[in-house]
Parts: sequence; structure tokens; C-alpha cells
Amino acid sequence: MDRSAIVMDMPSPILRFAPSPNGFLHLGHAYSALQTFEWSKALGGRFLLRIEDIDLERSKPEFTKAIFEDLAWLGLAWEEPVMRQSERFDAYRAAAESLIGMRWAYPCFCSRTHIAESATSTDPDGAPLYPGTCRNLSQAEITRRLAAGDPVQYRLDMARLVEKVGVLTFSQSGPAPMDRPQIRYADPARWGDAVIVRKGTPTSYHLSVVIDDAAQGITHVTRGRDMEAATDIHVLLQFLLGLPQPIYTFHRLILDDDGKKLSKSRRSMSIRALREQGWTPDDVRGAVGLTSRN
Ligand code: GLU
Repeated sequence: MDRSAIVMDMPSPILRFAPSPNGFLHLGHAYSALQTFEWSKALGGRFLLRIEDIDLERSKPEFTKAIFEDLAWLGLAWEEPVMRQSERFDAYRAAAESLIGMRWAYPCFCSRTHIAESATSTDPDGAPLYPGTCRNLSQAEITRRLAAGDPVQYRLDMARLVEKVGVLTFSQSGPAPMDRPQIRYADPARWGDAVIVRKGTPTSYHLSVVIDDAAQGITHVTRGRDMEAATDIHVLLQFLLGLPQPIYTFHRLILDDDGKKLSKSRRSMSIRALREQGWTPDDVRGAVGLTSRN
């Protein structure tokens, strides 16, 4: 067999860092961005930046500007133009409509309070698991509530989908994306009827991330271990929407001095605050366990 032909057919690696501009970057973001950038170089691939700003209330232009400045200060370079999710609502809306049209997602009018009060278990993030209140509303009831302008979100009909798709797998490599991938089973059922369209927004984090990873040709998704369980939903959506599946790497998290996810301690200070205190990019690298560039 001609091995060079196989190598040439493999897509060139494309990695991305995809922050949400609802605050300043902290050491955890710096680690994720630096590590992803370095992995993209080690793989001989490309590094993209994507601004995940679907939440129009929490996303602020000054945070987007700060992301560009902080990443450049850290020594990162990315390709232009940068994809901004706030410019891609039409693509998300089309995908959501196809899922709703197949009756794979249904309208839900429940309030947060109702869900919190009626849930009997939690999802992998510890949030109340949706008890299914709106799963079997009649068409007349749906039409009436939509016409009345009741705030609506759309949820995956998870039990039905899990039965339809059967066993779902994905490739996970680690600790680095160049390591040999292992086959993992995805377990989206543990999320219950996950939201794919939020109230007042034609999409959700889960829907946008799979559409954009596909649109940008991302071959290797690198994200923190706190996002590992959410990958179950992404693998399901990729299957339903016929999107390619990247290889996943879940990297370590930068913890605060108490061993918790970054919160209010010194280690969770923003990159810009540390910079104002006189930190250099190499100090940041050292603080997150990366070797100096010099
Ligand atoms: N935008 C997400 C965040 O800032 C991460 C995106 C991802 O890796 O899927 O937490």
C-alpha cells in the first residue's frame, strides 16, 4: 500500500480556542489557549480563535477586545478573520429548525423555578434534571402558547433519540491530542432533555459549538476536563446533524489554592490584573505549569 497517499488524505490538523467574552481571561483560560496553540504547532496544524458570544446580554465588546490583547500579549497568533458566533445566528436557526422539524426537539415553556421545584435528580453539572413536563404537550396547546407569545425553549427528546441512535462513540486522545486515540462511549441520556434553543436566543452553547467546530473544520477539540461530560451531547448532535466528529482531548484544569476551580483567590485574578502587577508572559506560563519559552 502507498503510505504517502494515506498521509496526504488526512485532513490538516485544525485546533481552536473558543472563549466566551463575558469576563476577562484568567489563568485557566491562559493555560487552555497556550496549550492548544502549542499542540497545533506540534501537530503542524492551524490555530483558530472563535468568540463564543451567543449570550448577547453577558457578552461585552470590551471583553472581546481584552481577549485579543491578552492572547497577543501571551505570544499567541491566530488566523483572521476570527469567527464570532453572534454573526452566525442564521446557521444555528437552520440547524435548530431541522431538529425541530424531525420532532427530535420539542418546545418547552417551563420556568426555571418550576424545573428546580419539580426535578428529582441532577445532570452531570449538578443542575436540576428536566422532569419532562412539556414533552407530550398537545399540538393545540403548543399552538396556543406560541401564539400567546409565551417564552419558549426547545429540548432534545432524549429518550427517543437514544433509542433511535443506539450506541454512540467518539475518539479521545490524551493527555495530548497527538496521543493515540481511544474509543469512548457517549452517554447523552444522563443529561436528560438538554436545551438546544434557549429562551430569547435561536441557539444554545451545545448547538453552536458543534455547528462551528464543523464549519471551521476543527479536527481536534481541546477543552478542560470540566467540559468532558458535555461532549456526550455534542457527539449526539453531530450524529443527528450529519456533522464530522473531531478527536477530543480533555486537559487538566488550573485549580485555585484550595484545589477548587478558579474562583476568588489570587490564582483566579485576570491576566490583565496580573500583568498590571508586573507579571510577564513567562510568569503566567510558570504559574500554569508550562515551561518558559526562552
Ligand atoms: N466557550 C466555552 C467556554 O468559554 C468553551 C467552548 C468549548 O471548548 O467547547 O467555556
